[in-house]
Formats: sequence, structure tokens, C-alpha cells
Amino acid sequence: MPRSDDPLIGPLRYLRGYPAPLVSEVRTLLADGSLAQRLLKKYPTPHAVRNDTALYDYVGALKARHLRNAAPLAKVAWDGKLASIHNALGTHTRVARVQGGKITTRREIRIANLFRDAPPEFLRMIVVHELAHLKEPEHDKAFYQLCCRIEPDYHQFEFDVRAWLCCVDAGGGAALWQAAGAAP
Ligand SMILES: [Zn+2]
Repeated sequence: MPRSDDPLIGPLRYLRGYPAPLVSEVRTLLADGSLAQRLLKKYPTPHAVRNDTALYDYVGALKARHLRNAAPLAKVAWDGKLASIHNALGTHTRVARVQGGKITTRREIRIANLFRDAPPEFLRMIVVHELAHLKEPEHDKAFYQLCCRIEPDYHQFEFDVRAWLCCVDAGGGAALWQAAGAAP
């Protein structure tokens, strides 16, 4: 159970583990209502990866470039059921099944629908994260090294994604780029 005086309950829990000055800056921007607009200004344009086919191609291209030797992906899909942000950072599963007397493993990557209306940097971060798990199952040093090898700005993007999740959790921000995408 989180303690009631834990400063990182509520939306800011997505920033657990980050240095206090960074968290404090996000807390201030969240409180004065300017965090969403800051993110929109920094990342003005949504990506164009709209459906499962486009997502499969996008993930496949990154995988072919950076993780050619990792096991093939059976499925890549947008997932509307990952709305709760606990899972918003995506899921990677290995579904074991028996086929012709042998156990085979299907690897799947699902990305929360929330990221359909997001800037390209945020989609890239989440996809790099899930792809890196094909090789590194834990969130350890080797995992983050691999993420940064694929995307040198990985840490900055993850922090900004987490700041966005704070916004979404606080009730503003889920539709930030929907509006941006709909603009003429
Ligand atoms: Zn992970």
C-alpha cells in the first residue's frame, strides 16, 4: 500500500524512480494546467500509423533494422483493452501452445490504443521498448542499453511519454493529438 504522504501517488506515480527536480517540475506544470500544452508544443504532430497493418509494418521495419536475429513476431496489434495505464506501456507476450505434439511460442506485441493518437516519438519509444524485450526480458541495464542503441533519445522520449501519462491520468491529455490530427 502506498503511504498517504507518498508524493508519488496519483498521476505522478508514472514518474517513480526519476530524480526529484524532474518530478517536481512536472508536478508544477500539472498543477498549473500547462503540462499538456507544453507536450503539444514540443511534439506538435501525430504519427500516421493508423491500423494494425500499418503498425505491423512499422514494427517490422524497426525489427529488421535493429533486431534482425530476434524471433519473428506472430502478431502486432493496437489494443483497446490496454486502456488502463498500468499496461499503457504495451505488452509483449509469449503464448505457448502445443502444435503437433511440440510446444511452440508465439510472440506478440500489443500497443495500447492510447498511442494511436500520439506523436511519432512516443510511438517509437513504446515500440522500441517492446522490441527490446524480445531480447532482454527484464528492465535492467542490458535492456536500456539496447533501447538506447535503437533510439539514442530513448530516455528523453520515455520521460516525456510518462509525463503525458500523468496528464492523461489527471484527466487531460488523452485526446491531445486527436485534436491536432483533426486540424486542417
Ligand atoms: Zn517493459
